[in-house]
Amino acid sequence: MPTPPLASGPEGRGALRPLLDTVLDALDAGGRARGGPLPAGGPAAVTARIRDALGEVLPQEGDPDALRALVHALAEGAADPADPLCAGHLHGPPLALATAADLAAGVLNPSLDSWDQAPAASALEALVTRALAEEAGAADCLVTTGATESNQLALLLAREAQGGGVRLVTAANAHHSLGRAAWLLGLPAPVTVPAPAGTLDPAALDEALTGLSGPVLVAATAGTTDAGLIDPLPEIAARCRAHGARLHLDAAYGGGLLFSERHRHRLTGLDAADTVSLDLHKLGWQPIPAGLLTVRNARDLAALDQRADYLNAGDDTEAGLPDLLGRSLHTTRRPDILKIAVTLRSLGRRGLGSLVDQVCERAEELAGLIAAHPGFELYARPTISTVLFRPAGAPDDAVAAVRRALLGTGRAVLGRARPDGRLWLKATLLNPHARPHDLAALLNLVEGHTPR
Ligand SMILES: *Cc1c(COP(=O)(O)O)cnc(C)c1O
Repeated sequence: MPTPPLASGPEGRGALRPLLDTVLDALDAGGRARGGPLPAGGPAAVTARIRDALGEVLPQEGDPDALRALVHALAEGAADPADPLCAGHLHGPPLALATAADLAAGVLNPSLDSWDQAPAASALEALVTRALAEEAGAADCLVTTGATESNQLALLLAREAQGGGVRLVTAANAHHSLGRAAWLLGLPAPVTVPAPAGTLDPAALDEALTGLSGPVLVAATAGTTDAGLIDPLPEIAARCRAHGARLHLDAAYGGGLLFSERHRHRLTGLDAADTVSLDLHKLGWQPIPAGLLTVRNARDLAALDQRADYLNAGDDTEAGLPDLLGRSLHTTRRPDILKIAVTLRSLGRRGLGSLVDQVCERAEELAGLIAAHPGFELYARPTISTVLFRPAGAPDDAVAAVRRALLGTGRAVLGRARPDGRLWLKATLLNPHARPHDLAALLNLVEGHTPR
């Protein structure tokens, strides 16, 4: 076998073009073989097909058909967020444009741990993160792999800024990654404040903060994972100020509202947070990963300072080579900023805002259909693009069974949530191409699969 060609360099384009044709054709054929948002038949059927397509993992002699066969199998067995009936999670369909940009990132393979591995990518990241920080009213912004990492970094920065100890205060609606980050960093168990209506109760927060001594980090949420609710940010910020507590905002989902003129006002108070987590692989239509952490006080980032002579020697830095190690906890790091920059520039504020507005409108429409349907109960009007509903009068186990039946047929993907102790179906709408008739079809399927 000749030495396989490389992705970049003079041979790159000629080598990639036929491979990309293979990939695009296999994606298409696999998607058509699937025929819906999810493969039918559940885990056993999918595993059997993947086992067949894979064959021996590391054969003695290579298989020239492996790219086509495995991409086909992956597409056939995918949960495809581009299907309007794939609405289970904050699992968004990436824009073709952003995915094409990501291909360039893979080809050039810059690594953002030192300037000599990523000269242009590091300059691009510096410029784009500065602009994104400004957009969020912050001083600086780091690129992360998602809000799990952003939340972890936020706790770490809080711990270091406050002299090595911090108590996390969250509400019952907070994302599980916050408690896990506290555990990972060896912090005391978080104090959990009630969220009676699904959002952090400022009076209960006030009471909790009154009872605590020592450094505190309050973590609020803009866009809860279960219901898309937004905590009352100005009230929370005022309570934090009064008690001298630091504030982190997990805006993994809701942060995308910043792009929309119509919905931006719901994030009023966001700029009071010391740190904010944002996920552009949710309301930002990026391929995974595209996480951000904005930081209000750039001095907080000094906690990440790190020296490694081969990456950021003092004399190199003095001679003007940017020191990148302190921009992340990772060493080798992908230029995820490229797809983000391409998306921001190509769509502009108006284009991105319109995507946000469309998914919010779809959620309003779905809620309207549910409210008007005697067979369904609506949990509440949507705040962002999540709609919770259940077949009227159904016990919890029937609600759970509808969801699994739909997953089994592969015809619709819905999530589940227990905002009030009862089990609800969750439609997380992130597809700007979804149309009202898709929403009606979704409800018909749920109705048809509800055990009677
Ligand atoms: C998605 C989400 C997270 C986790 O983010 P990842 O990108 O999956 O790491 C954290 N908090 C909230 C509110 C989320 O919606």
